[in-house]
Amino acid sequence: MKTVELKVAPKFLKQYKGKYPLIYKDAIMNVNMLKEEGTLVHLVDESNQFIAKGYYGKQNKGLGWVLSYNQGEKIDKIFFKNKISNAIGKRKAFYQNQDTNAFRIFNGEGDGIGGLSIDYFDGYYLIQWYSEGIYSFKNQVLSALDEIGGYKAIYEKKRFDTKGKYIDDDDFVKGERGEFPIIVKENGMNYAVYLNDGAMVGIFLDQRDVRLAIREKYAKGKNVLNTFSYTGAFSVAAAIGGAKKTTSVDLAKRSKSKTIEQFSVNGIDAEQQDIIVMDVFDYFKYAKRKDLKFDLVVLDPPSFARSKKRTFSTAKDYPALMMDAIEITEKGGIIVASTNNASFSMKKFKGFIDKGFVEMNTKYTILEEFSLPADFQANKHYLPSNYLKVLVIKKVN
Ligand code: SAH
Repeated sequence: MKTVELKVAPKFLKQYKGKYPLIYKDAIMNVNMLKEEGTLVHLVDESNQFIAKGYYGKQNKGLGWVLSYNQGEKIDKIFFKNKISNAIGKRKAFYQNQDTNAFRIFNGEGDGIGGLSIDYFDGYYLIQWYSEGIYSFKNQVLSALDEIGGYKAIYEKKRFDTKGKYIDDDDFVKGERGEFPIIVKENGMNYAVYLNDGAMVGIFLDQRDVRLAIREKYAKGKNVLNTFSYTGAFSVAAAIGGAKKTTSVDLAKRSKSKTIEQFSVNGIDAEQQDIIVMDVFDYFKYAKRKDLKFDLVVLDPPSFARSKKRTFSTAKDYPALMMDAIEITEKGGIIVASTNNASFSMKKFKGFIDKGFVEMNTKYTILEEFSLPADFQANKHYLPSNYLKVLVIKKVN
């Protein structure tokens, strides 16, 4: 394939010279040159001076990612191998940790290749391709992993199609097929993981530090509500941390059996916990009606969700969600508020939290803040790559 020269509009030159990694429409004067995803591109200025090289791949609002600022660097098998080996080198401490065997070894633009992530689950690699463009480099990525070696099997998720949805087909790539669930370890806790069953595997690795904090500092003796609970990973951490009881609420029917499974692989009797399949907003109404109160409430909604009754967007509705949570949290209780919405900053998130408390005429203090854990290497030139924001908040009165 021929390399395409993309002309950067003058007012965006500074941005790319400052190592901004995302190639996007507004910044490029001749996007009509882009035809086939996976094409290598050179970003050039108006006098055709080289700025950076990258690839064309449509991902959300982006058109691709910068891969190198070095004109002489070839984007070939060796390039991919070097990037992936470097990234693995940075995760040495994770490979050596006896208590944790599920972590991210390659985090997109944070490790120098936007659109690609690779997770490690106890010997299994899971590659996530975020565009057709990056998928066209599959052979290079696989041969890099082969040279690095030492895996049981490779699975993949193609997170692209015309509607930006997950394409459901066989996720197995090569090696010896796993028998799922595999049980991975995280800080000594067990989690059941399925690499062959849809877009989500059963655990979100980016919340590892938050799960540990809940277990170690916030759960003991507490009555815990986990909203948008998915497979109940936070509930498991709370129960292991000595929670009096956990209540997990998620509207997906599958969440119930998946949560029971997560409890049982940890030797916890799920019968002693509440697992409720319900719209969280209906649950809040129910809890208020019944005057239920919790010592610890976890809020971890998807950035955007549409149910039959309503749409919810974290960018718009977080203050109202906080108000619901505040109302059913005991005085002196804790709210763990989380969002993975990349479109706003921690500062703005704190504003949403503040708004909720001000409206409820309630005082609070922020006890702790979390962003991405070390294996989710962010790109400091691209703020949205640091998407995770978690606040541990104490409701004072
Ligand atoms: N907190 C979870 C991850 C949440 S993923 C964890 O740490 O593992 C988002 C979850 O929100 C999904 O399981 C989805 O089914 C659920 N969800 C989305 N809208 C919801 C709603 N209105 N009420 C309850 N659950 C909802």
